[in-house]
Amino acid sequence: MNKSYVLTIDQGTTSTRSILFNNKGEIVGKNQMEFTQICPKNGWVEHNPEEIYELTVQTIKNVINSSDIDVSDIKAIGITNQRETSVLWDKKTGKPIYNAIVWQSRQSQKICEDLIDEGHSDLVKQKTGLIINPYFSASKIKWIFDNVPNAKEKSLNNEILFGTIDTYLLWRLTNKEVHATDYSNASRTLLFNINTLKWDDELCELFDVPNSILPKVLPSSHIYGYATALSNIDERFKNIPIASLIGDQQAALFGQCCFDLGDCKSTYGTGCFILMNTKDSIIHSKKGLLTTVAWGINGKVEYALEGSVFVSGSAIQWLRDNLEFFENSNDCEDSVKDKDPSNGVYFVPAFVGLGTPYWDNDARGAIFGLTRASTKDNITAAAIEASPYQAKAVMDAMIEEAHHDILYLGVDGGASVNNYMMQFQADLLNAKLIRPVCLETTALGACYLAGLATGVFSSVEQIKKLHQVDKVFVRNISDEELDKRINGWNNAINATLCYKIKNN
Ligand code: ADP
Repeated sequence: MNKSYVLTIDQGTTSTRSILFNNKGEIVGKNQMEFTQICPKNGWVEHNPEEIYELTVQTIKNVINSSDIDVSDIKAIGITNQRETSVLWDKKTGKPIYNAIVWQSRQSQKICEDLIDEGHSDLVKQKTGLIINPYFSASKIKWIFDNVPNAKEKSLNNEILFGTIDTYLLWRLTNKEVHATDYSNASRTLLFNINTLKWDDELCELFDVPNSILPKVLPSSHIYGYATALSNIDERFKNIPIASLIGDQQAALFGQCCFDLGDCKSTYGTGCFILMNTKDSIIHSKKGLLTTVAWGINGKVEYALEGSVFVSGSAIQWLRDNLEFFENSNDCEDSVKDKDPSNGVYFVPAFVGLGTPYWDNDARGAIFGLTRASTKDNITAAAIEASPYQAKAVMDAMIEEAHHDILYLGVDGGASVNNYMMQFQADLLNAKLIRPVCLETTALGACYLAGLATGVFSSVEQIKKLHQVDKVFVRNISDEELDKRINGWNNAINATLCYKIKNN
C-alpha cells in the first residue's frame, strides 16, 4: 500500500481543519476555516452546528482540490473534536433545536451549583472522574430542555438526538445513518460511567437526560460508517470509512505516541493542557486532576489523568500587547541571553486565578524579585519560565497520584517552538522531552487511530517507528541551581496565594 492516505478532520473551538496525511504520518495537504463565535450573553459561547458541518465539508473540498492525490487512495477518515460542546437535533429534519453550547459556556452554572448544593459531587466524581461543572455536557443538555419549548417532550417521544461534535459530524457525514461516539468523548459528558463503560442511569436521572437520546459508544479506532454525504464532492467518498473519533486532548496524547504507563503530553498554547497515560488504572485525584478515558482500542479502554494551566503562551501575548515588549511572540526568545536570563525575577501569570494544583480563582498575577538591576529581558525570561514551572506543578501532582515517574514527555502547541522554554521544562523534570516534527499532534492522533482500523498502519509499534522527532531536551542544570529556582518559584506562588482579589 504505497499510496494510501488518511483524511483527518480537526474540529476545534474557533476553526475547522481538514488535514491529509500519507501512510508515514506526514502532512500532504491542509485547509482551515474559521467559524462564527456566538456570544448571546456575558459568559455564554455557542456555535451553529450546521455552519460547522458546512465548513467542514468545504475544507475537505479545498484540501482535495489543492492536492494532487486520487480520492480512491484515501483509505480512512478520522475525526477529532473540541470536547464537551453539545448539540441536540431533530432526528427527522436533522435541524439542531438550539445552537451547540460550547465547552467554555457558563449558561448552565446554576444547574451545576444546585446539584453541588444537593450533595451529588462525590457520586459524580466516583462515576465519571470529573467534577460537576458547566464545562461538561450534561448540564448543557438540561439547560436546553429547560429553555427550549417542547424540547423535553420531543426527546421523550424519541424525536431528538444528542451528540458532541464528533457525533453530529459522523451522523451528517453518514447521511443520518450512524449515531455514535467514542469512549473518550463519552467520558466528557458527565453521563458516562468510566468504571462500567456504560451510560449511567443514575447520572441520566440526575441531569434529567433520557438515555434514548444518547449515542452508541464505540472504540476510538473503529469503522463507524461511510462518508456517503461527501458523494457530491466525489462519488468514491461513499466507500471511504470513517474510522476514528477521539476528543482533541486525547488525540494529541495518541499523536505524541504516549502509549506507555506514565507517558505524558503537554500542549503549550493559550493555556497548557497536560495528560498522562495511566493505562488500565482509574486514578481518582485528590489534587484537582480529572480522570478521563484516553481511548478505546483493540477491545480495551485506557485511562488518563488530566490537568490544565490557565495562562501559558498568553503571558507572552500579554507582554507583547499590553506592555509592548516586542512585536511578535517569537521575538521573546531574543531576551534569553545568558545562563540565568530571569536573574532572580519570578512572574506568576495568574491573570484568571490559578488552576491545578493550586486552585485559587481569586489569585491574580504578580512579578517578584525585582531589583534596581532588573531588565525587560529578565521579566520576559521569567514569563517564559512561568509555563514550565506551572506545568511541572501539574506533573508533580500526576507523579504523586499515579505513583509513576514521567519518563517521556511529548510537547506541542504554538509556544513549544520556544527552545528556551522547552529546555527549562526539561531542566525542571527528570523526563526525556520530545518535540515531534509534526506539531499537529491532535490531527495526527486521529489519523493514527483511523489508519489502525483500516490497515494503513499495522500496529502502534509501527507508528512509534514512524514518529519523527524534531528535538530531544534533557535536564542540563546543576542540582543546586535547580533547588534555588524551584524554591524561588514556590515562594512566589505562596506570596501570590496570599493576595486575594476579593479582599482588595
Ligand atoms: P491556541 O491553540 O491556544 O490558540 P497556539 O497553539 O496557536 O494556541 O499557540 C499560541 C500561543 O503561543 C500564543 O499565546 C503565543 O503568545 C504563544 N507563542 C507563540 N510563539 C511563541 C514563542 N516563540 N515563545 C513563547 N510563546 C509563543
